[in-house]
Amino acid sequence: QVEEIKIKGKVVKGFQRGSKQLGCPTANIEMTEENKKLTSELIPGVYSAFGKFINPTIDILVHSNPYKCALSIGWNPVYENTEKTVEVYIINDFFGNDFYGQEFEVTLKSFIRSEAWYSTFEDLILAISCDIRSTETYLEDKKL
Ligand code: ADP
Ligand code: MG
Repeated sequence: QVEEIKIKGKVVKGFQRGSKQLGCPTANIEMTEENKKLTSELIPGVYSAFGKFINPTIDILVHSNPYKCALSIGWNPVYENTEKTVEVYIINDFFGNDFYGQEFEVTLKSFIRSEAWYSTFEDLILAISCDIRSTETYLEDKKL
C-alpha cells in the first residue's frame, strides 16, 4: 500500500513554473534509479505525505521538520511521458527562499486523487487548493 513508502533525494531545478504561474512552488525530487523503481508502481496523482530535510544547511529549514506535504507523482511530458517526476508542495511559508540542492525525504501517507487534466488555469489552481486542504485535513491527527 501507499502508507510509509519513502522517497528521498536532492531538490533539483525544474522549469520554475509552479511558483510563478500557479502560486504553488513544488520541490522537484531528483529521480535516482531507486526513486524510479519506487514510483514505477504508484498511480500518477496527488498524495499526502510528511516531509523533512536531511542535514539541512539552511537555518530556516529546521524549525518545523517534519512538514505536511501535498505531492504529485506524474508523467513528465519532457521525457515523452516515459519517466515519472515527484514534486512536493511543502505546506509552509519559506518567505521566497529557495532550497535547491538540499536533501529531502517524504513518507507517503495517503492517496488523494488521480492525475487529471485541467482545461483552464483557474480549474487547475482550484484543484491544487483543494488538494492542499484535503492533505491538511487528512494529516491533522497523523504522525510521521
Ligand atoms: P522548479 O520548477 O525549479 O521546481 P518551482 O516554481 O516549482 O520551481 O519552485 C520550487 C522551488 O521553490 C523549490 O525547489 C524550493 O527551492 C522553493 N520553495 C519555496 N517554498 C516552497 C514550498 N513551500 N514548497 C516547495 N518548494 C518551495
Ligand atoms: Mg517544481
